[in-house]
Amino acid sequence: MNNEIYLDHNATAPVREAVAEAMMAALRQAGNASSIHGFGRRQRQLVETARAEVAALLGAPPQNVVFTAGGTEANNLALRGSGRRRVIVSAIEHLSVLQATDGAEIAPVTAAGVVDTEGLAGMLAADSEPALVSVMLANNETGVVQPLDVIAGIVEQAGGLLHSDMVQAAGRLPLDRHAVAMASLSAHKIGGPQGVGALVLGRNMPVSPIIRGGGQERGRRAGTENVAGIVGFGVAARLVREQAGGNAAMARMRDRMESRLLQAFPDAVIFGADAPRLANTSCIAIPGMRAETQIMALDLAGIAVSAGSACSSGKVTTSHVLQAMGAAAEVAQCAIRISFGPGNCDTDSDRLIETLLTLRGRTARQKPEAA
Ligand code: PLP
Repeated sequence: MNNEIYLDHNATAPVREAVAEAMMAALRQAGNASSIHGFGRRQRQLVETARAEVAALLGAPPQNVVFTAGGTEANNLALRGSGRRRVIVSAIEHLSVLQATDGAEIAPVTAAGVVDTEGLAGMLAADSEPALVSVMLANNETGVVQPLDVIAGIVEQAGGLLHSDMVQAAGRLPLDRHAVAMASLSAHKIGGPQGVGALVLGRNMPVSPIIRGGGQERGRRAGTENVAGIVGFGVAARLVREQAGGNAAMARMRDRMESRLLQAFPDAVIFGADAPRLANTSCIAIPGMRAETQIMALDLAGIAVSAGSACSSGKVTTSHVLQAMGAAAEVAQCAIRISFGPGNCDTDSDRLIETLLTLRGRTARQKPEAA
């Protein structure tokens, strides 16, 4: 029996069974969704069904969904395709937002990891050029949820446009309550396949393609559609809508783990604990225990977690998110991210804590010898 424990759902969520089945069925069908013959029309139908499911996550009309090859591309399309020359992004955005344009201005965050709304308002007021502002709904490293409605009001008053990276919030928070001009989604964070995402546009929001060629996606994203991937995204979107809820149980499991961890390691720091957070996410530093060491020890015990943001590469660098929150480098270097999913239970976090306690015992025994 597989005894491994997966606590890295913010990096990617396991593909749901119904998603895999629907994708296999789609892969077995021939046809290009742009072809006008029957084979093509059947593929088109699959794409449009999925589009409606993804649109429903935001309560948007289906035609406002632009399928992309993931959240990274959706963020790039939003920031580079909006036509706005002035771009303001929060300091805790995913690298696919931070690096999408040259010369973006960086809005600060508080020590709790929440965008400093007064600071943002000041930045907007400092220049009359209307800006595109990008603020994520929930942070991938800390889970901190941003006051998007307050931010939307500030941006609107300044004549700006608001984009929100909702990649981590999807399936965990309702997305349809926010007035944003554009929102990015990624299938693999909600149990869909990797390499598929979407930019969902607000009413009358034009976007210029960054990938040019054919006229697919109403001229907003060229390239033959990844029909099987899009089908999988659609099924995952439907399932998270149908199965919404369960946050209270998830938060209870996360809070139990955090309080036990604090009992075991009283000097541990929980980032973003003073702000509203996604129920499944915990970013914890145990001073003196470097993230790599913890991750390796946990991996040997069959437990998967990550250090800061796992999506960029295997290397562990100091997280720009924790830096922006003012964390000292030596503490930030010890931060690991534990992200639960629907299949986890209390015994999973108990095993995590036991493993970290064993690691600390071993490290303490080794230190006098090394001295
Ligand atoms: N935005 C956030 C907040 C993320 O966490 C990620 C991936 O981890 C992305 C964007 C990128 O999405 P994708 O992996 O689909 O390119």
